[in-house]
Amino acid sequence: MVPARRPFVGGNWKMNTLRASAVELAQAIRRACDAPLPAPGGATEGAARCANGPERAEVVLFPPVPYLRDVAGVLAGSAIGVGAQDLSAEERGAFTGQVSAEMIRDSGGEWVIIGHSERRHGAGESDELCGRKLTRALGSELRTIFCVGETWEERSAGKAHEVNRRQLEAGFREVGAERLGEVVVAYEPVWAIGTGKTASASDAQEAHRSIREWLANRYDLRSASGVRILYGGSVNAANAAALFSEEDIDGGLIGGASLKAADFLAIVAACGATAKVER
Ligand code: PEP
Repeated sequence: MVPARRPFVGGNWKMNTLRASAVELAQAIRRACDAPLPAPGGATEGAARCANGPERAEVVLFPPVPYLRDVAGVLAGSAIGVGAQDLSAEERGAFTGQVSAEMIRDSGGEWVIIGHSERRHGAGESDELCGRKLTRALGSELRTIFCVGETWEERSAGKAHEVNRRQLEAGFREVGAERLGEVVVAYEPVWAIGTGKTASASDAQEAHRSIREWLANRYDLRSASGVRILYGGSVNAANAAALFSEEDIDGGLIGGASLKAADFLAIVAACGATAKVER
């Protein structure tokens, strides 16, 4: 029997919340995720499907770094993970403003996002730098969401797959097959992030299939089949189920809709029912 890919939902809070609202949001999500599962077919079935149990979605929250410790404290002992939105490629030293992998771990973080479009395009991070960050994260025992995605111009020019594969090539240059289980890939078309424009389920599936094919060529079919690939870009409670039911879409990285507990939980519930089994 081959393993299922456990559905995954990440909440990227970006530069939002203050300490009190970050704690409140984490508490609300924890409360819902800790709630016992209702009886099958019960009225509230679905709303709380994100706690322990392989059939449910794995949930990880990414608060702003100053509140990492507070949010990690709220989530301690729960099934919900916590991580940082970025990290330095350097280990330590004279790197003003940067945050090291060790600092993230020391603040309770277990995960990190690398290569988000707001880093690649907003802060000018190169493919090569994203690759160095991934190597640093894995070397520091931080599990990683590694983001790739094309701009609208690149998609219009028919270069979407080429761009995603180029970003993967640079990112995974030093990643051995034995570390693949610590990486989740997120396909996040730049034009869909925070814009309200979502990729159609079939376009997203096509991009995910191409990413999995790249992983199979770079590693092997079995390893590639076990990697979770998330979609990110204006996911909301209304469009989540259609996206997550596609064969190669294993969950989502959620920005705007992760800032309201009810919206985020509805997305988690939609995701919880979509575990994909390797063939
Ligand atoms: C993101 O920031 O990763 C993201 C997908 O944002 P949004 O859901 O707001 O488009």
